[in-house]
Amino acid sequence: MISPVNSWVAQKSELADNLTPSALAMWQMEKLKSVIDYAATNSQFYRGKINSSMKLVDLPFTLPTDLACDPYAFLAIPQSRVARITTLANSGTTTLKKRIFFSKSDLERTKEFFSVGMSTMVRKGERVQILISNKTENSLGSMLKESLTQIGVVAEISGAIRNVREAIEVSKDADCLVGMPAELLYMSRTAPDMRPKSILLAADIVPKSIINSVKETWKCNVFTHYGHSEFGYGLAVDCDQHDGLHQRDADNIFEIIDITTQKPGMPGEVGEIVITTLTNEAMPLIRYKTGHISRLLTEQCKCGSQLHRLGNIEGRISDKMTIAEGKTLSIHQLDEMLFADSFVRGFEASISKGKDKFELHLTIDAIQSIDLSALKLLLPEEVSVDIKYDTVDPFTNRRKRRLIIS
Ligand SMILES: [Zn+2]
Repeated sequence: MISPVNSWVAQKSELADNLTPSALAMWQMEKLKSVIDYAATNSQFYRGKINSSMKLVDLPFTLPTDLACDPYAFLAIPQSRVARITTLANSGTTTLKKRIFFSKSDLERTKEFFSVGMSTMVRKGERVQILISNKTENSLGSMLKESLTQIGVVAEISGAIRNVREAIEVSKDADCLVGMPAELLYMSRTAPDMRPKSILLAADIVPKSIINSVKETWKCNVFTHYGHSEFGYGLAVDCDQHDGLHQRDADNIFEIIDITTQKPGMPGEVGEIVITTLTNEAMPLIRYKTGHISRLLTEQCKCGSQLHRLGNIEGRISDKMTIAEGKTLSIHQLDEMLFADSFVRGFEASISKGKDKFELHLTIDAIQSIDLSALKLLLPEEVSVDIKYDTVDPFTNRRKRRLIIS
């Protein structure tokens, strides 16, 4: 089945049957001019910095710290028209908070995208259990629930869950589960007999080891997507080919920037995702540096979609800890190493700098001990490791995964 995002973007861009990757790119560059005019006129931050004669690659980047320093400088509509404000901590600082503004139509576009993207995963009459977010008006969970209701799907937001048993209890009759990768892995290794038809891994970076394991254990279809709080959570989504994410091309331009040179990378090269909004009304963002790592895929998806395609998200730049020249360690690398072991249900990791080596401390929740010598072979030689075994239920301490630096 061709990704339903394809026809949605074809309709939104009015390219209809003429939608091809190059026609889409040309349409985006034309649209960009009006976005630059809109931002330069209405947003104090962009006033005098940009003009519509500038090419995309010549426009300055917008940094998360810019947003944290003065969020109201980005607001392009009167405050009375703001329908939702999301407040987020800015990584690296303790005091500055990013505020993200959305108008009613910004939220409507996100909900439309959710309806379109979820229609690959669930059918009318089926039931979705949303294991992330909360029931507050315009929260991620509420928007997702509304968008599912639009396509005839019953959705329930779990709200506060305190342990894996509660998560299993609320999820046992659902056709589709939406949850964080490490939490759903823990559920699948605790209750391997559950049989959801599909799951969507959300709200954190998704290791391949988790996709493979959950798919095998629950015999279900595993979908991924790319979301970002600054862009209303929905940016690109998987199709049933599971080979890259179809971008919301009518609403955003995606670039990949070489992490070292800060110049646009070649197609297929790994770099930082940089996004320019094309339709955001409350807060247009121009070349916003997301801090996420991925690549733009060049071949056409087997589903037949003509949309631009983003590879899987391969981590966050800020999570990579330098161990030695050319060697880094991150929680995502550890997730790939440890979750590939079918005995490991969960783990927490912290690292400290010892006299001669970095010391990696792992608390592992496993059905039986792991092969330590095999793990050591995967780790940089500058890292020593100690392991203790304990219960590490991710539902008792719900958060995005981090390698704690102690
Ligand atoms: Zn596809």
